Amino acid sequence: MPLQLTFRRFDLKLIHNWTIATSQQAGGKSISPIVLLEVRDEDVVIGYGEAAPSLRYGENADTCLEFLRKIDKVRLSFDDLESSRRYIELIAPNNYSAKGAVNIALADGAAKKAKKPLHEFLGLKFTEGKHVSSISIGIDEPAEIRAKTEEVAAYPILKLKVGSPNDLADLAALREAAPEKTLRIDANEAWTTKEEALRHIEEFAQDRHIEFIEQPMPATNSPEDFAWLKARSPMPIVADESYMNAGDAERCAECFHGVNVKLTKTGGVMRALEALRAARRLGLKTMIGSMVQSSIRTSAAAHLAELADWLDLDGNLLVSNDPFRGVTMQNGILSFADAPEPFGLQVAPRE
Ligand SMILES: [Mg+2]
Repeated sequence: MPLQLTFRRFDLKLIHNWTIATSQQAGGKSISPIVLLEVRDEDVVIGYGEAAPSLRYGENADTCLEFLRKIDKVRLSFDDLESSRRYIELIAPNNYSAKGAVNIALADGAAKKAKKPLHEFLGLKFTEGKHVSSISIGIDEPAEIRAKTEEVAAYPILKLKVGSPNDLADLAALREAAPEKTLRIDANEAWTTKEEALRHIEEFAQDRHIEFIEQPMPATNSPEDFAWLKARSPMPIVADESYMNAGDAERCAECFHGVNVKLTKTGGVMRALEALRAARRLGLKTMIGSMVQSSIRTSAAAHLAELADWLDLDGNLLVSNDPFRGVTMQNGILSFADAPEPFGLQVAPRE
C-alpha cells in the first residue's frame, strides 16, 4: 500500500503585524499562509509536515500546493528517507519549503515507527533546560517596540529586526524597557553597499549587549564585499539569506562568522543536519532559525538544537492560531517535557 498524502493551506494569524526590512513597503503582514501535510501508512502511522513558504525564496502557499500535487506517492517511504528525498529533488528545482514539508513528514513517520523522538532517531541529544531561544521583535514605531519589549520581559534574549530609517530610535525604545538584555539584530539584506553596512554596524556596536548581526547586505552582493565587511565589523556577522545549504559553507566561511540554518532553505531536516555539520567543520558558529510557522516546523528544528550555538525558534509564538502542539518555550527555554506525543516530531493537532 502506498502512503496516503493529504495537504491543505492554513492561514496563520500574526499576533502583531509583522514587518522586516524587505516588507516595509508593503506595510508588513497580518496573516502568514502555510501548507499542512499529513502522510499516513496502512498501520496508521501519521507523519506531519509543514511548508512555511517565503516569497524571498520564490515560494508561496500556491506554489507549495502545486508542488505537492506533482508527487507520485508510490515513490515515498517512511523506511528510506534518503531515496524519498532524492525522488523529491527530481520533481523540480528549488521549492525548498515544499520539499521540506515532505521530508519533515517522512522523518516524523520514520522516527515514530522506530519509537524514538526525532533527535534520538537522528543520533542527537536534546538536553532539557539547556536550549534557549531568542524571541523576535519586528520593525515598528518606537512606542510599539517599547511595549513589545515589555511584553516579552521574561525572555532572556531578544532579536530586533532592523533596516528601517528609525533603527536607532527603535533600539533606544527597546533599551528603555530592557537596558542590558542580550540582543541580536537582523537587517534582512537592508544595506546596499559595504560602506553603508559598516557605518550602521558601527553605530549598533555602541551597544555592548548586541551579540551579532544577521545578513547586513543583499545575498547578491559579491563575496569580496562580504569578506571586506567581515574583516572590519566590530561584531560577528551571520549569514541567513546568504546560506541556503551545505553547498554554501565554504564561501560563507570566508565571508561570515556564523550561519543561520532554516528548514525552509535546506528543504527539510536531513539537509539541515548537513548544513549545520558542514558549517561547524569549517569553524563557523551555527544558528537555527525559523519563519513564521506552526509548532510542526518549530518542533522539527528544535530536535536539531544540539548542533546550534544560537537558536531563534519563536516562529510559532508570533501567531495566535497555531494548529499544532509540540515543543514549548517558557521564558526562552525550549522543552519537550509537555509534548503531546513521545516519538517523532512530538507534535499533535490541537483539538
Ligand atoms: Mg534572518
